[in-house]
Amino acid sequence: LFVAFEGGDGSGKTTQARMFAIWLRDQGFDVVQTREPGATKVGMRLRAILLDATHQGLSSRAEALMYAADRAEHVEKVIRPALQRGAMVVSDRYVDSSLAYQGAGRALDRAEVERLNTWATGGLLPDLTVVIDVPPEVALARFASPADRMESEPLEFHERVRREFRALAAADPERYLVVDGTQPPEEIARIVQDRAREILPD
Ligand code: C5P
Ligand code: MG
Repeated sequence: LFVAFEGGDGSGKTTQARMFAIWLRDQGFDVVQTREPGATKVGMRLRAILLDATHQGLSSRAEALMYAADRAEHVEKVIRPALQRGAMVVSDRYVDSSLAYQGAGRALDRAEVERLNTWATGGLLPDLTVVIDVPPEVALARFASPADRMESEPLEFHERVRREFRALAAADPERYLVVDGTQPPEEIARIVQDRAREILPD
């Protein structure tokens, strides 16, 4: 079973991914908790390039390719091997982050970003994608100051990102759960668990 957590910067998805992985482990499941970008050795180098605040004006296509490269490595080295041995995979970000940030955020052609990522992942999709939804003005205020290149983008950029995550979820309600991320973390976790129970093996 493969579950991805998505959402904007400061949405709390990292906290939720961690809480969800702990909840699964408590039930005796073998869980691989992972994240993008940067779950592999090469991925960590790509992450450093991508988030370097001095790389202002990086080409949007180069950016999309590097996130896709990180993802290709992530799928081949971490996600597929884990799924193959029957483990549960919980990922902090996946393909939808590229549709939202590079597609909607950078205004690259959505269908092209999708094709690039289908190629990068060999078409692997999560069984469930949890979108932690928080208005960007609330989410970004959770940081004292922007930590990296993407977080320094203007509010409109983050508005487009949020809109795309919501649109992706609305288009496929079977495979998505949108949770109001302004609620207390324990409440969000409970909502995620209730939904996950429907798809967990007995
Ligand atoms: O989730 P985390 O904050 O660690 O992600 C690192 C950064 O990469 C974030 O600032 C996010 O905005 C950015 N990102 C992106 N496009 C992706 C995935 C992440 O711009 N496809
Ligand atoms: Mg961030």
